[in-house]
Amino acid sequence: MLTSIYADHIDALPPPQKDRPHTCDVAIIGGGLTGVTAALHLAEHGYDVVLLEAETIGNGGSGRNGGHLCQGWPNDFHHISHQLSAHDADLAWAAGMAAVDMVASRVRKHNIACDLQFGYLHAALHHRHVNELLAMQHEWSRRGYAFLTALTDRTALAPHINSQSYCGGLYDERSGQIQPLKYLMGLALAAGAAGAHILEHSRVIKIDRGVNKTLHIEHAPQLTASRVLLCGNAYLTDIGLPDMSRRLAQVTSSVLATTPLSDNMIQHILPSRATVADCNTALNYFRIDADNRMIFGGRASYTNVNLGNVEADLRRRMCTVFPVLANAETDRVWSGRIGITVNRIPHFGRTDDDIYFVQGFSGHGVALTGLAGTILADAIMGDAEQFEVMQSLRHMPFPGGILRTPALALGMAWYKLRDRLKL
Ligand SMILES: Cc1cc2nc3c(=O)[nH]c(=O)nc-3n(C[C@H](O)[C@H](O)[C@H](O)COP(=O)(O)OP(=O)(O)OC[C@H]3O[C@@H](n4cnc5c(N)ncnc54)[C@H](O)[C@@H]3O)c2cc1C
Repeated sequence: MLTSIYADHIDALPPPQKDRPHTCDVAIIGGGLTGVTAALHLAEHGYDVVLLEAETIGNGGSGRNGGHLCQGWPNDFHHISHQLSAHDADLAWAAGMAAVDMVASRVRKHNIACDLQFGYLHAALHHRHVNELLAMQHEWSRRGYAFLTALTDRTALAPHINSQSYCGGLYDERSGQIQPLKYLMGLALAAGAAGAHILEHSRVIKIDRGVNKTLHIEHAPQLTASRVLLCGNAYLTDIGLPDMSRRLAQVTSSVLATTPLSDNMIQHILPSRATVADCNTALNYFRIDADNRMIFGGRASYTNVNLGNVEADLRRRMCTVFPVLANAETDRVWSGRIGITVNRIPHFGRTDDDIYFVQGFSGHGVALTGLAGTILADAIMGDAEQFEVMQSLRHMPFPGGILRTPALALGMAWYKLRDRLKL
């Protein structure tokens, strides 16, 4: 998987100042937004934290995503609320709605230059989507969220997007976009400054369980920790717990970045520079970044991706939405793994010997990972209320064994057909 365009102008983390520790209170596995946020939150509260990243910070989804910063949970809230008491449902709703604010306040607090920008369009391709968006607006406003505007025809869409592909939409003032790797590196620097040890090129290959856990690290000395957080999400290799792997499927999604577009072109296609996602299951998601590039993502696949075909496919999708981009040049194409759960709600858990995990942000992790990392860290620090609520949600396993990939691919093929037939 090629690195994203985001990595082009990012400085590597400075080498660790202190000797490599052999023990710590909390070991965090995975240097994406979840793990780094948890490390930062714990270090700020004086905990002795070591974060172990197999490659470099941002190697996983956090350094290669579309940069969409979305409010709320990735699926209709009733998938959460019907399993909870009214009190716990309110708590879960408020937590989901706090995630974007948490990003904004961390950006301010740590002075992270990461091109944060608000304004988001959920774009409807046909009438069923318009109805779904109106139902979402109804549900969200009933719960007090007053930042959605329904756009019920092309005239209403015109201030935001000029494309014949869409017939309506929902504009959200409080969602937006971010350069995800700049944000993540800013958090990692802040975590290091707060005292967390961040160790790159440190792949954990085995964990000996017990009150004190021994982490075996490839080409490095072992580390002993009382608590372990598994934050490897779709990239977590053999050390995941069976309960985790059965409940997570890995989907590959890909992103194309053009060379910078002219201001005139941007004014023509996306006048308000809103970040956009359509409502298909195998959705297109796109935005104009701070360098005027079109960052266009899509093409979910349960099978291995041949990057040779990806560019042509993404270009076809982009030019269907904006035929005027037929001559725009491709600068970079990359892919990454998304972890999804059956109900698209993140899966939280804990073992009896204090191994905590969260996974399955289902393509919605840029904001929710910051919330999830905070929830895990709070649980470690003794405030487990939000953790307990999220952990109590049931997650169905995916079909197992050798039939797993074909079954998932078949399911995705059905949804793609449904999208195409506008059912
Ligand atoms: C192409 C793409 C586009 C996306 N677009 C969006 C979007 O626009 N908006 C949105 O909200 N979400 C999006 N997502 C999803 C989002 O990026 C993820 O939900 C989020 O980044 C997950 O963060 P994480 O920290 O949990 O995991 P990751 O960022 O995946 O980090 C996991 C890390 O764990 C490390 N690791 C794994 N195993 C080990 C081990 N044994 N030892 C040490 N380290 C280990 C990996 O190397 C990796 O760096 C997208 C994802 C992809 C792939």
